[in-house]
This record gives sequence, structure tokens and C-alpha cells, in this order.
Amino acid sequence: MAIPDGGKVTACVFCDIVARRAPAWIVYEDATTLAFLDIFPFTRGHQLVIPKRHGARLTDLPFDDQMALIRSLDEVCRRSERLSADYNVALNAGARAGQIVFHVHFHVIPRYGEANPFRSTSRAPLAEAEARSLVAELSRT
Ligand code: AMP
Ligand code: ZN
Repeated sequence: MAIPDGGKVTACVFCDIVARRAPAWIVYEDATTLAFLDIFPFTRGHQLVIPKRHGARLTDLPFDDQMALIRSLDEVCRRSERLSADYNVALNAGARAGQIVFHVHFHVIPRYGEANPFRSTSRAPLAEAEARSLVAELSRT
């Protein structure tokens, strides 16, 4: 979807996922939020939780959308515990903080005892068979 941005038009891949114009391995959805698998996971089961309404960062969202996002984050964290009791939750706000997709999202990253998964070299693209098995595991209520 094209987001008007001070006269410029910028594409937003996460808005495209919300609108089903781009594919995603969706694991959770409600009226205002969505969660799906990261296509370059740091670890098995790395998920992203987003508001359906576009905003670059958490502080751009209306209060109700922020609260809805946190509720969904809680649900995704609970489901992540099916994979591992331990996980990291991260939010990158701004390019200098490592934000690449400027549609606010929480990362939920299961941890299995690996030393440091937060390196670009440890990121292989999500394989389809793995994605299918994770969707089955994480999308059930
Ligand atoms: P950030 O650095 O916080 O902006 O992270 C953006 C995340 O989105 C990265 O972990 C990417 O691998 C992930 N990502 C980018 N495009 C897609 C997509 N189309 N589907 C799923 N994950 C994506
Ligand atoms: Zn967007």
C-alpha cells in the first residue's frame, strides 16, 4: 500500500501483508492486530506482532491501538512458550536503532540456549516446511 509521506509515496510491506497483497505466514489475527513469522528468523519461531493501522513507531499510534498491540503481544508470547519458555521481545524504533521496516512491530524471538543469535550471518531465510510446521504449532488457540 502507498503511504503518503510529506508529498512522497512510500511502500509499506507490512501494510501489504495486512491487506493480503503480500504473502505472510500468519499465526494470529484480530480486528486491529496481526502476527506472522519473520522471513529471516533469528531463531526458530521468530514472530512479528504489528498493528493493522500504519504507524512507523509505537508513539505514532493512538492509545487504543497501542493497548490492542500489547494484548496481542501477550498472546504471541504465550504461544511462543509452546516452543521455549525463554524468549526476547524487541522493538526497534528508528534507523539508528536498527529499524528496517517502518511500520511498528514487536519481535518475539524464542531462545533455546544459543550463544548470540542476533547476527546477520545467523539468519537463513525461513523454509516453507518449517513455516508450515510453525504455523500449525503457533496459530492454534
Ligand atoms: P526491524 O529491523 O525491527 O525493522 O525488523 C524488520 C523485520 O522484518 C526483519 O527481522 C525482517 O526479516 C522482517 N521482514 C521484512 N519483510 C518481511 C516480510 N515480508 N515478511 C516477514 N518478515 C519480514
Ligand atoms: Zn505500514
